[in-house]
Amino acid sequence: MRIPLIAGNWKMNTTVAEAVNLVHSILDRLDKIEGVEKLLCPPFVSLFTMKELLKGSSIKLGAQNMYFKTKGAYTGEISPLMLSELCEFVILGHSERRGYFGETDEIVNRKVKAALVNNLKPIVCIGETPEDNETGRAEEVLYRQLNQSLNDIEPIQDIVIAYEPIWAIGTGKAASGEQSAVTIDFIRNTMTKLWGKRISQDLRILYGGSVTSHNIAEFISQPEIDGALVGGSSLKPKDFLDITNQAATIKVPHTSTHLRTKE
Ligand code: PEP
Repeated sequence: MRIPLIAGNWKMNTTVAEAVNLVHSILDRLDKIEGVEKLLCPPFVSLFTMKELLKGSSIKLGAQNMYFKTKGAYTGEISPLMLSELCEFVILGHSERRGYFGETDEIVNRKVKAALVNNLKPIVCIGETPEDNETGRAEEVLYRQLNQSLNDIEPIQDIVIAYEPIWAIGTGKAASGEQSAVTIDFIRNTMTKLWGKRISQDLRILYGGSVTSHNIAEFISQPEIDGALVGGSSLKPKDFLDITNQAATIKVPHTSTHLRTKE
């Protein structure tokens, strides 16, 4: 069974005080929503406070990035070991990390491995540029990102894949539900080739890119789409609650009939 996941990526927004206010404004109502997993990914500096605030609730906590080394002389970096005390998930390979900070598939691969060793669930982001799309190279790029980011990793159900077309992130130009379902189907088929059918049927694959309370229904009603990674709208309490409520109402969890054994 794939439990739908609605994840809020707050990016580099909110001071600690603002994060506390934002959580207070959604905590009780978000906590009560059943049937979907709810995840908040604030900036690093708010993780400890958020952990305390979310204690005893059904809301999960995630980070937005990490380094792949456990500890050492890497000034300014945050390790998976540090995060493992604070949160359950970590977003890796977001297109803003790839675009602004030069993260390659090889770096993402090292981070995914390090996250898993430290019992963190990676949300691995992939997505094509507008140019890839225009030149018909989207599938080739997505295949490469999956193949390289997940290279030499034992198939495991704890990884979440987020399909985020770069042209849709923060632009207000979301992909259509149908369009993204076709691509997510391609992603699942690719994972079947890489990891086998049983695990790939259980992997959660999210859509991300300008998701709002007005378009979430379009995505979540597609059987292949298991939830959303939400940027801008996750900073607006009413919108994020509305998105999560709609996901819980619309989504019937997909049931897989097989046993969870290794390929
Ligand atoms: C994101 O940051 O992952 C994202 C999808 O952003 P937005 O929803 O603002 O497009």
